[in-house]
Amino acid sequence: MNQETLALHYGYDKKQFGTMSVPVYQTTAYDFGSAETAANRFALKELGPIYTRLNNPTTDVLEARIAAVENGEAAIATATGQAAIFFAIANLAEAGDNIIVAKKIYGGATTLLTHTIKRFGIQAKIFESDHADDLEALIDDKTKAIFFESLSNPQIAIPNIEKIVAIAQKYNIITVCDNTVATPILFQPLNHGIDVSVHSASKYICGQGSAMGGLIVEAKGLNAKLIGNPRYPQFNEPDESYHGLVYATLPFPIFSLRIRLSLIRDIGATIAPFNSWLLIQGLETLSLRVKEHSRNAYKVASFLKSHPKVKKVSYPALESDPLHGRAKQYFKEGQTSGLLSFEVDGFEFAKQILNTTKIFSVVVNIGDSKSIITHPASTTHQQLSVEELELTGVKTGLIRLSIGLENADDLIEDLKIALG
Ligand SMILES: *Cc1c(COP(=O)(O)O)cnc(C)c1O
Repeated sequence: MNQETLALHYGYDKKQFGTMSVPVYQTTAYDFGSAETAANRFALKELGPIYTRLNNPTTDVLEARIAAVENGEAAIATATGQAAIFFAIANLAEAGDNIIVAKKIYGGATTLLTHTIKRFGIQAKIFESDHADDLEALIDDKTKAIFFESLSNPQIAIPNIEKIVAIAQKYNIITVCDNTVATPILFQPLNHGIDVSVHSASKYICGQGSAMGGLIVEAKGLNAKLIGNPRYPQFNEPDESYHGLVYATLPFPIFSLRIRLSLIRDIGATIAPFNSWLLIQGLETLSLRVKEHSRNAYKVASFLKSHPKVKKVSYPALESDPLHGRAKQYFKEGQTSGLLSFEVDGFEFAKQILNTTKIFSVVVNIGDSKSIITHPASTTHQQLSVEELELTGVKTGLIRLSIGLENADDLIEDLKIALG
């Protein structure tokens, strides 16, 4: 079946209650009915709901559906995208290990993976994902994961995915790709040899800026990469926290199962059932929306490209963009979502544009159906000096747009007036 159909139907049996909409199971716990059933569920002899921190029937549908849409084996939903990234990494690396992280990624992921995770004894090494020429030299016996974004926010870069995957496979290291911006509609990481895909579902999957959520999807066949792999003893040796359970012996997708049984169980960061329901609604129209976001952004990017006061436009779907070749190589019909950036002369002019637009909201989010404008130098990157800004590629006059679903002509008119 195709993605559009799976996104509408997969994982929910309408015959159960006859409801067209997936029911929201707004409950904390479940009646086991008998002591035996309770014992069997805890012993994994029977899979079924135990307690909503661990699993929930509404969330089960979301998980099954995203796994199907992304052509994966299984998925885990989390409270936010940040939790999804943390769990995917913490499932692979422990104190004393290291991970290799792309330079061009989301700011929140950079702080999590380079600073916060260091406090847990996991060291991050940074690689230049545009070419990945420096990646192989960073690998050692303690390297447990390679992390990158398929379409990076806010740099709007597309890494050399083929090369990253080839190197990871050579050393039997698990790759984790944040696919938030591209979404499964434009790019399917697991079809390109990537092992684990993560999402901030708060963005395009939700689509209306109304709920937060994270998703982790594991590739088909990932068990075979983990079982017997000396890099990952945690899947092959008894787990003390689960009375000596050896994940490698279980007939389930063990990457996801271990996240549920140890990380979600112990740390929490569970998605609320109602948010799962909102994300299910979002998934239903994701394919239509992402194509329309992309079409709109293409029109806006073309306008900006021709404007005399715009110094540079980054939008890989544009034929003139340096990353256009990669966009066509990896992304469906070369489309690259609603995210684009452009550069004008100076800090003050950039701020003035933000203050003059009427349709664009000044908000730090992306993927909403309503258009959003941000000025990284005065907000997310405020703490950096002008020199540091230049180094990270965030120029003082850089503006990021998340193009929504309004009529593109109205957005262009709004920007035309703001640019003066
Ligand atoms: C927003 C975002 C995140 C973090 O997700 P939250 O849902 O806000 O926790 C991670 N990665 C990317 C690419 C994002 O845009």
